[in-house]
Amino acid sequence: APLTIAIDGPSGSGKSSVSKAVAARLGIGYLDTGAMYRALTWWCLDQGVDLADEAAVVVAAEALPLELSTDPEDQRVVVGGTDVTADIRSTAISSEVSKVATNTGVRPILQQAQRDRMAAIAEETGGVVAEGRDITTVVAPDALVRLLLTASEEARLRRRSAEVHGAVDEEAIAATRDQVLRRDRDDSAVSQFTVAADGVVTVDTSDLDFDESVEAVLAVVAS
Ligand code: C5P
Repeated sequence: APLTIAIDGPSGSGKSSVSKAVAARLGIGYLDTGAMYRALTWWCLDQGVDLADEAAVVVAAEALPLELSTDPEDQRVVVGGTDVTADIRSTAISSEVSKVATNTGVRPILQQAQRDRMAAIAEETGGVVAEGRDITTVVAPDALVRLLLTASEEARLRRRSAEVHGAVDEEAIAATRDQVLRRDRDDSAVSQFTVAADGVVTVDTSDLDFDESVEAVLAVVAS
């Protein structure tokens, strides 16, 4: 059977970088489901679709012209022929993406697209690491390995700050705090991270550095 690994967690848990490293170490493909919600948000804004118009966003989701690389070490996101790999990480997209992610018509469309992609990647590379917010519970509850990556609020703010501002001083953390906590709150409708679902293994990365986090996940996969 293909090695399917589902990883959920909030932003700043180390989820994305750890998931990519785990996929690379295992020589299997990678799916960043958050990138799909971000790509749809970018596409709607580019096409002038009002994010508050739920039906219009559903239509955009159904026809999203998305190309996503599967190589964990070479992630590229292309929408309608435009490379948006960097753009979808901008504050403009981060602050709007929850509107798209909480659209109840959009979720089943992207979730099914994610199942299809996971199957295709697993067939092509022998496995897949898929990460997001609802992979262990909704997209792939039957994955071989299911993990919840958590971290304390302090650790998450520190990491996010380093990522976005390249600094972890008081000022940078304060600038990050509002954005991170707001997105947590906006996302709370689609996912809860305090308790892992039945059969999902929790890995708390608060006191682990990057390499230790990767090893901790690989240990669960090997067990
Ligand atoms: O993981 P990332 O921060 O890039 O995800 C961006 C946004 O996409 C999240 O804030 C959330 O609103 C949404 N998302 C989701 N379900 C997923 C992955 C991401 O709702 N499986």
